Amino acid sequence: MYPDQDFEQLSAHRPTTSGRSPEQVLHEVFGYESFRPLQGEIIHEVASGGDALVLMPTGGGKSLCYQVPALVRSGTAIVISPLIALMQDQVAALRELGVRAAFLNSTMDFEQARATEYALSTGELDLLYCAPERLIQPRTLELLHDASISLFAIDEAHCVSQWGHDFRSDYLQLAVLANEFPSIPRIALTATADERTRKEIAERLSLTEARHFISGFDRPNIQYRIAPKTNANKQLLDFIKAEHEGDCGIVYCLSRNKVDATAKMLAQKGYTALPYHAGLPSNDRAHNQERFLREDGVIIVATIAFGMGIDKPDVRFVAHLDLPKSLEAYYQETGRAGRDGKPSTAWMVYGLQDVIKLRQMLEASQGNDHFKRVERQKLDAMLGLCEVTKCRRQVLLNYFGDELEVPCGNCDTCLNPPETWDGTVAVQKALSCVFRTGQRFGVTYLIDVLRGSENERVRQSGHHQVSTYGIGIELSVTEWKSVFRQLVANGYLRADPEGYGALQLTEQCRPLLKGEHKVELRKDPVVKKSAGRSSSGRSGSAVKDQVTDHVGWEALRACRKELADKQGVPPYVIFHDTTLFDMLERKPQTLDELAGVSGVGAAKLEKYGEIFLAAIARLNQA
Ligand code: ADP
Ligand code: ZN
Repeated sequence: MYPDQDFEQLSAHRPTTSGRSPEQVLHEVFGYESFRPLQGEIIHEVASGGDALVLMPTGGGKSLCYQVPALVRSGTAIVISPLIALMQDQVAALRELGVRAAFLNSTMDFEQARATEYALSTGELDLLYCAPERLIQPRTLELLHDASISLFAIDEAHCVSQWGHDFRSDYLQLAVLANEFPSIPRIALTATADERTRKEIAERLSLTEARHFISGFDRPNIQYRIAPKTNANKQLLDFIKAEHEGDCGIVYCLSRNKVDATAKMLAQKGYTALPYHAGLPSNDRAHNQERFLREDGVIIVATIAFGMGIDKPDVRFVAHLDLPKSLEAYYQETGRAGRDGKPSTAWMVYGLQDVIKLRQMLEASQGNDHFKRVERQKLDAMLGLCEVTKCRRQVLLNYFGDELEVPCGNCDTCLNPPETWDGTVAVQKALSCVFRTGQRFGVTYLIDVLRGSENERVRQSGHHQVSTYGIGIELSVTEWKSVFRQLVANGYLRADPEGYGALQLTEQCRPLLKGEHKVELRKDPVVKKSAGRSSSGRSGSAVKDQVTDHVGWEALRACRKELADKQGVPPYVIFHDTTLFDMLERKPQTLDELAGVSGVGAAKLEKYGEIFLAAIARLNQA
């Protein structure tokens, strides 16, 4: 799937790694103007031999934090990365830049691995990406001892945290690096880690003395939206049609069956939608992921098995048809949208059944009380985000210890503030109905009783005679559902752990039953028919929407696609959309002018400069 790691060809591009400053490497190799916030400091720290723990949001530019020092220091940088697909893409991208990069993982045969190991031992590599299970093998460690190592970079460092959501036991063993290579700088990087996880990372990887670099969590280009679930399929279709027709996106579902059904449904509506879950044969999975990376406008429908390490910069939307288990998971999954910094949407629908299902899964799960307590808190925080009436971004950032002083203006509650209503009486009625019917029934039945339904089941149970029968006709079925959802979300009711969805009172609801507390409820917004692009945010529109010269744009993209296909890499490995856009704006006529375009470094200038200049010249003639 990837071109052979051809070391001779690599050597031809051999950059002189010695004696260059980080700034020079940034300009000459990567073609970028300046460092992003924190990047410069981190790079100087590591380049001068210090350790670092880096927390930076997705798309913040973590890779450069070790790639630049790798090219400044002499020797080979070892990058530990848990995902093979990710390391392959990164290596392909680096080689495009003329950097001598390679990987070691289980996809290679013996010969390939030997060749890579040889290149390491003879100092022919700037960076070597390595899977953790491979790294900790005695044979690999021995090899490292014999080579000249510039630094260790531990990517996705939160995998070392046992309470985190991506725990990998191999990561625990990375502690050997500190013991066996005490003088070699180590940098650990992650995009998701609350304070506790951060501490755990520092302890387990012996980075307590390291400098910590924590950059803000905000992803201002992502618009967060969460709506009550009415008809999920229709809601999803409306959303995509109105705002993301032809865009690339990810749709997350909880179960494999639902993934398959949703992918099929979207395909029937004419979208290129592909399923991805652990139940598919690994070939199909790899194939679907490849198409997602390489083609335009592909929607991948997936369980959470998909996405870690997906580096695609132009994912325009992430849709959740089911509720994630925690804000960490939500933030990480939605964070796959808009790495390129362009406007993107994180869209989710959720309903009472989701809440009940997750709560039941949690209670039924293996794990000790402490574990369950932590999980429960995490789920509560997730539900809290769903039900807030203030800015969602403020809540989200606050959870990660970040503060946003004013409401963001780019989430649904900011754009379309939900109304609240005094639900004190309704809540009392709902809770007492649960009580009067013996805490044995699910929400549909309870609403039947409240609304005085003539339903056979109600009569047979004698519940047409309880005091709460028919006392709730002032609210519609949908409105009652919203009341119950909020009661469960806020912990006043819980779903029977035995299953069946029966709702039970919790200790917490006592004051509400007595009417001692006033309760403000969220009024579920009425969905407006056309929520078109115009209403979707403050920060302008995606690259392709900013393009005015469509002919030129398509020509440059075709040029890029041809080069990408020839080399078997995703198009963005050749140039990002933002780089093409910049080219189209500036219409450079000489190599020097082209070098001024952001994202055009020396190697790409040499390899593709003439080709793109010719394409631009043709545009000028047309
Ligand atoms: P992360 O790993 O933190 O999610 P990446 O390292 O993939 O983010 O970087 C995200 C994008 O930002 C990439 O396309 C990268 O090339 C770009 N980028 C990173 N640093 C800079 C910079 N200093 N100037 C311009 N673009 C940058
Ligand atoms: Zn907001």
